[in-house]
Parts: sequence; structure tokens; C-alpha cells
Amino acid sequence: MAGVAGFAAACGRDGSPNAQCGDGSAASGEVFEWKMATSWPRDFPGLGVGASRLAEKIGKLSNGRLKVRLFAANELVPPFEVFDAVERGTVEMGHAAPYYWKGKVPACQIFAGPPFGMTAQELNGWLYYGGGLELWREAYAPFGIIPFPVGNSSMQMGGWFNRQINSLDDLQGLVMRIPGIGGEVLNRAGGTAMSLPGAEIFTALQTGTIDATEWVGPYNDQAFSLPRAAKHYYYPGWHEPGTALEGIVNAEAYSALPDDLQQIVETACQAATMDMLSEFMARNGDSLAQMREAGVDIRPFPDDVLGELKRISLEVMEELAHSDEMSAKTWNSFRAFSETVQGWTDLSEKAYLNQR
Ligand code: CA
Repeated sequence: MAGVAGFAAACGRDGSPNAQCGDGSAASGEVFEWKMATSWPRDFPGLGVGASRLAEKIGKLSNGRLKVRLFAANELVPPFEVFDAVERGTVEMGHAAPYYWKGKVPACQIFAGPPFGMTAQELNGWLYYGGGLELWREAYAPFGIIPFPVGNSSMQMGGWFNRQINSLDDLQGLVMRIPGIGGEVLNRAGGTAMSLPGAEIFTALQTGTIDATEWVGPYNDQAFSLPRAAKHYYYPGWHEPGTALEGIVNAEAYSALPDDLQQIVETACQAATMDMLSEFMARNGDSLAQMREAGVDIRPFPDDVLGELKRISLEVMEELAHSDEMSAKTWNSFRAFSETVQGWTDLSEKAYLNQR
């Protein structure tokens, strides 16, 4: 039993043995209560569930010393104001997609993973072992925010369209919900990109406010009933080949934690990355099979359309890299790592997948 009565509340309400509490150190027994705001609807499969599993995991690993209460989109702050809320300290932590903050930190679009960029596992290589995460932390430091990779959507789909894309002409005037750099690429290809929070997508597509939307992949798209709102499902997700999601933590709140709780936050975030990626892999396979069974029209973008989108993507990335110093540093690092790692991916996984 935790020895000192005064520590009872902090040392596990179940009264279980707790070596840390037993040492009588007030600091080790202090209980921290954090709020986590997310950009996702409550219990939204994949992204939202991943964030709530992370909150639970931190609570369990810390034996209740760091309690993280999750607030879904709009429960505390709107989905696109999570970054501001963490910066202000309204919440100690957030879970979102980095590219939502492009107006504040242009380089965030590179950490998320740009169009025609690296796959999820290549991107993890850059973030954890190629200097990517250090640059990410440098980019968010002026806002008093520490980013942690938390999850990856894995390869996304090209999206749901109510018109066929048979040539570049079909992109002219296309109104599509597509955020980030992909949206800028679409604009330059003749379309009109919109950014809508997840909860508004289905209605916008069904009522014709938008002609097309991308969302995530088969698992999430099915959960949003998108097969009922559009005629055609296109692949591949050229604009998001493996988007990293982020846990963002208020730097002051983080530095107030003792070392072991900081380690718990960091390790739980890493574990959440693996968990989310694994879940997407499993469930996307299931959902795609169900859609095929249901007769959803699934088709590839034409090669020349993809070729032009790739050309424009590189143009946009080069411009971004020249827009500010942080973006330039980040893009140079990303591109150098990407070129090197692709040498390996091409003769390992790609060669293997082509033959399987
Ligand atoms: Ca997406």
C-alpha cells in the first residue's frame, strides 16, 4: 500500500502498491490533468479513436498521474483552432493534421508529407532518424508548442468524384474539398480547392456544393458514408501518400512534468503512431473489399493527369521552399532524405510488390 495517507489520492485510488509513491517524494506523486483538443469528430474511426486511445494510454502508463481528457472537434474548440488553443494553453495537448496550420507555419505542410512525397514508413524514417522531428520542433518552438508524430493515415485514396476524370480538361472548374498543398496543386491545374472540416463533407458532396472530395482511405471514407454521396472513387492518393498526424503539446505544460511523465508522453505518442498505421492497414483492406462487393466504381486517375499533378506539385514545393527560411531548411532535408531512401525502397519493397 502507498504508505503515507496524505499521498493516497495521488498514489492510485485502488490502493495498489506503488514504488514511486512509496518513496514519499511529493513531486513523483503529483497528479497532472490535461485537456486534449482534437480536429476529429468524437470516436471518428482511425484518427479520432487513435487520439482517444493515446489519452487513455497516457493515463494508464502513468498510473493516473497524468490524466488526459479528450475533447473532440467543437466540444471545446473548433477543429481548425486546435493549434491556437495549445499555444494559448487553453488545452495542454492537441491532436490534428500538421497541414491545417499552413497559414502560421508554412513548413508544417512538409512534416505532414507533401504530394508525391514519401510513404508512411519512409516519412517515419525521416522524422525519427533523419532529422525531420528536430526541424519540426524548431518550426513550432516560436509558438511554445512541442510536436510529436502521432499516427499516420498511410496511403490515402484520390477521393470521391461526381464527375469522371478522363483528362486534364476534367479538372477545369472542379470544386473539390482538398486541403494543404494538394489543394494548391488542384487550383493551379484549373480546379477550385476548398477546406472543409470532416463533419461537413458528406452534405457538401451530396448537395453538390462540391463536385469531389478527398478524405482519407476506404476505412474512414466508408465510415463517413461517402460511397452514398458520390459516383466514382479514384486512386491513388497522390496528394497524401502517407500523412503524418501530430500530437502537439504546450511547451510550458510539458516542462512542468517530471522526467518520467515526459517519457510516458513521448513513448505513448510513438506507440500511437504504430497502432494507427497498423489499424489503417488492416481496416482499409476490409473496407475496400466491402466496397468492391457493393459495386462501388473504383478507378485510377489517368497517367497524364498524375504526371501533370506531379509536375505542379514539385513547382509548388519549390516555391514554398523559397517562401521562408524554415521551409527551405525543411524541404532541403526532406528532399535529400527522400532521394536516398527511395534508392532503398525501389529495390526492396517496390521491386517486391511489382512481382507479388
Ligand atoms: Ca486526406
